[in-house]
Amino acid sequence: MAARPTLALVAHDAKKDTMVAFAQRNTEKLRDYDLVATGTTGGRILEVCPGLKVTRLKSGPLGGDQQIGAMIAEGRLQGLVFFVDPLSPMPHDVDVKALMRLSLVYDLPMALNLSTAEILLRSARLSGLKTTSTTPEVNCG
Ligand code: PGA
Repeated sequence: MAARPTLALVAHDAKKDTMVAFAQRNTEKLRDYDLVATGTTGGRILEVCPGLKVTRLKSGPLGGDQQIGAMIAEGRLQGLVFFVDPLSPMPHDVDVKALMRLSLVYDLPMALNLSTAEILLRSARLSGLKTTSTTPEVNCG
């Protein structure tokens, strides 16, 4: 039997309250996934949703974004909710860009803001996804 889809949750500091509210509102839907999160984001979610099982990775600036990127490259992630703060400089900006880039390379469903995340979670496609191709999209030509 296929494994449950894995969903990664990441929020920059200015967006953590938004992520917490998103997780509270969607707790039942999130139970359908194996959840992984960067360290602080995962901790904040678990404070308000202690019943959710969330695997906490390293904090984003300490390598958590890159851990999630590796999961994408290895085909171990089916979706990413990444609440990005567009108004603050980030010490780990290169990691943020790398994570977005890998999501694009592997055509991973990725929500960068709240409204898209709500749509993503309701998507039959994401619910139905069990694996991610380990082969990047290539041109037909
Ligand atoms: P954090 O990492 O959840 O540990 O704060 C998120 C990030 O800044 O990428």
